[in-house]
Amino acid sequence: MRISSTFVALPLAFALLHGASAGAQDASTQPVVQVIGTGGTIGSAGDYWKGNPARVPIAQLMQVPGIDSIARIGTEQLWNVASSAIGPACWMELSRHISTLFRERRDLAGIVVTHGTDTMEETAYFLDLTVEGERPVIVTGSMRPSDMAGADGPANLTGAVRVASDRNARGRGTMVVMDDRLFSARDVTKTNSTRVETFQAPERGPLAIIDPEGVFYRQASPNRTAPQFALTGITTLPRVDIAYAYAGADGAAIDAFVAAGAQGIVVAGVGRGGATPAQREALTRARAHGVVVVASTRTGAGRVPGSVTDATIGAGDLNPQKARVLLTLALTRTTRPDEVARIFQQNQ
Ligand code: ASP
Repeated sequence: MRISSTFVALPLAFALLHGASAGAQDASTQPVVQVIGTGGTIGSAGDYWKGNPARVPIAQLMQVPGIDSIARIGTEQLWNVASSAIGPACWMELSRHISTLFRERRDLAGIVVTHGTDTMEETAYFLDLTVEGERPVIVTGSMRPSDMAGADGPANLTGAVRVASDRNARGRGTMVVMDDRLFSARDVTKTNSTRVETFQAPERGPLAIIDPEGVFYRQASPNRTAPQFALTGITTLPRVDIAYAYAGADGAAIDAFVAAGAQGIVVAGVGRGGATPAQREALTRARAHGVVVVASTRTGAGRVPGSVTDATIGAGDLNPQKARVLLTLALTRTTRPDEVARIFQQNQ
């Protein structure tokens, strides 16, 4: 799916033209940040609202006034697609690419990934669980296309580069920068279909606020150095589907997922992870086929409790799409429900 890959250093002259902010370093002492473009609204222009946008290359998007006073920036266009086209195979490709870059480029302070906002939280969480090393990966995007009045892409890119350059960002895993706030990939979710302040972390809040003076964290870094899951030797990820619970739902979708080869099912349950009687019967049939079932909530916040001895594993406060990412990776290690339950408990 790769489109092209180039390394383009932004011209230093740009900083002189636009005036570097106080504290700007000269190019030889600046942190180095690689920006990987994958598409999304941030890379769109033209007939966006008619569903036929022009795609803007990442090197052009990075022409943001003042951004090269923060870091020396390289760019590469990995893909240029809407985030609805990004799924598990792309997650693995992107994660491996980032781990390779970190291994080969000791000069990099961090990496920024631009991504459509619709499924950004899923890609970011997968990277959080799998990318090697302690240096930061920052995922960002925008709610408004690049040529719209009030476009939020330039500010989000500036914030993302600021965090990726920051030594205090190390050991915190993959994070998302949107609207001057930094979120953990695990906690963040898109809560509004159109507004620029759409990204929130229900119950847990942002990790930091970002402004021109710096990045202001709420807590010290947990100093993570290794990913939770290694992708070594994995060629394809197990199929995991999400079954939505709603009044009167029958078991047709769950039976169809099992017939299609699902190894795991996440229930986007009502309230504290509930399903209808017909869905519960279908889930019992699924378990009899060896499918591992995790219950989450469709409410948008709050916990679904679970225990290692329960037949159904609780997702805690992971939303359905995050629980699916964790279950997908957990199933690469074990298909035993009690061990999967333990992995979910460790990720609370
Ligand atoms: N449809 C876009 C995407 O996710 C939305 C966005 O980027 O904000 O690719």
